[in-house]
Amino acid sequence: MKKEDYGANSLVIRPHVLLCTVCYRGGCEEPLADKEKVEEVLEKIWRDKETPITLQCDVHPVYYEDLLDKNSSYTFKGDLQTRKRDLDVLQRLGLVPGSTRPAWYIYTLLLERIPTISGICSYPSTSSPEWRGCPHAEKGFYEKAREAGLKLFIRLRSKEEMRKAKEESVKEIYTAKRLFIRPHHLMCIVCFYGRGGSSPLEQDNLYEVLKRIQDDPDTPITLVEGCDVICPPCPSYNPETHLCDNVCGLIRDYKKDLDVLQKLGLTPGTTMRAKEIYALLFERIPSAKDICGYGDGIERSHEWAICGNVDAKYYEKGREKGLFKNEPKC
Ligand code: SF4
Ligand code: SF4
Repeated sequence: MKKEDYGANSLVIRPHVLLCTVCYRGGCEEPLADKEKVEEVLEKIWRDKETPITLQCDVHPVYYEDLLDKNSSYTFKGDLQTRKRDLDVLQRLGLVPGSTRPAWYIYTLLLERIPTISGICSYPSTSSPEWRGCPHAEKGFYEKAREAGLKLFIRLRSKEEMRKAKEESVKEIYTAKRLFIRPHHLMCIVCFYGRGGSSPLEQDNLYEVLKRIQDDPDTPITLVEGCDVICPPCPSYNPETHLCDNVCGLIRDYKKDLDVLQKLGLTPGTTMRAKEIYALLFERIPSAKDICGYGDGIERSHEWAICGNVDAKYYEKGREKGLFKNEPKC
C-alpha cells in the first residue's frame, strides 16, 4: 500500500458492531451484528490500521406531548438492546455519536476499557423478552479474543522489526552530521536524564541522543514536526506512515511541539548547536508543566492526557543538573 493510501478509506459503523468483531475473532460464528459488516470491518482494519472509524448511532428521543396530542399509544423505535449496547460502548470509550478515531486507537481503547460483555450484551439478572441479551454473550468468545490482545485486530510490529529499527537508528545517531529532533523531545531527553536514565532503552533512542550531544555539545540539531530519530524502535511508531500510533501521537504531541517552538521563538527547520538550543530551552522553559501540563496542569480528556513525568518533576531535576559539563546551573 502506498503511504498516501493509509487512512484513506473510512468506516462508519454503529458502536455495538465493535463488540461483535471481537466476539467473531474469539470464535463466534454467528455474531448478532451483520456478519458481512463484521468481516468487512476486520478485513479493512487489518489491511490499514490508520482506517478512520466513525461511531454513529441515534438515540430516538420522544417528546411526551406529541403522544398526548395524538392520543397515541407509546411504541418505541428500533431494537432497545442494540441501542443500549451502542451507548454502553460509547460511554466506556468516552466518545459520542459521530466521534471518529483511527482503528488502532478505537481497538486499543475497546480492549482496555471493556474487559467483558456481561452486562452489556447480556443481562443475567433480568428476564424479559425485550432484554434477553445476545445468546452468545455468556460463551466467553469476546473475553477470549480480548485476552489474546490487539494483535488479533491490528497488525503490530514484531520484536525483530523493532530490534532492527533500533540498530539502524542508533547507528544513524552516532554517525549523522546533524540530528533531527521534534521540539518536545528535547524536553523528554531532559526528563530521561533527570530521572537518572543512564543506559539504552529498547523502546526509544533518548539515551543515544543524550550521549551523542553530551559527547559533542556542538552537534547540530534541526527541529522537525512529527516523528524523529528517537522514534524508530518505539512500538507506537508506524514505519509505513511515519506516524506515532499512540494516544499522544493523535494530536497532543503536535501541540507540545508548537508550544516549545513558540516559547523558544523558533520555527521548524531551525538548526542550532545542541548546547545553544538547550541554553535557550532552559532559559525559556523552567517547568514541564508549562508544555506537557498545558500550563495549568488540567487534564481535559484522554486525548489530552498529561504525561506522568510532569508531577515527578524529572524535567526540573534534569534542568537543575544541566546536561553538559561546565554548563552554568539553572
Ligand atoms: S513530561 Fe513526559 S512528555 Fe513531557 S518532556 Fe517529560 S517525558 Fe516528555
Ligand atoms: S510514543 Fe510516538 S512520539 Fe513517542 S517515541 Fe514513540 S513514536 Fe515517537
